[in-house]
Amino acid sequence: MLDFVLVLTIMIEVALGVISGLIAWAKHRSFFAWFLVGFFFSLLGVLIVAVIPKNAKKCPKCGELSTYGTTTCEFCGYVFYSPTED
Ligand SMILES: [Zn+2]
Repeated sequence: MLDFVLVLTIMIEVALGVISGLIAWAKHRSFFAWFLVGFFFSLLGVLIVAVIPKNAKKCPKCGELSTYGTTTCEFCGYVFYSPTED
């Protein structure tokens, strides 16, 4: 019985890890890093990755996505108002 609970728990943790990883991946973040967060923190990890902003921002000039934190557009060189701006 304990073995069954253990296996079930691990399966749920892996599933939550995959969900976290997929959400992170969609947000231009590391799948594997967030898989581990979901695995170890369960629903809390999924909630965290669900509320964090995308690791990318859209250029108002050319519309391409640049990595979050950059000050200029990686495609057209447009200077963003603030590196922390969403
Ligand atoms: Zn641009």
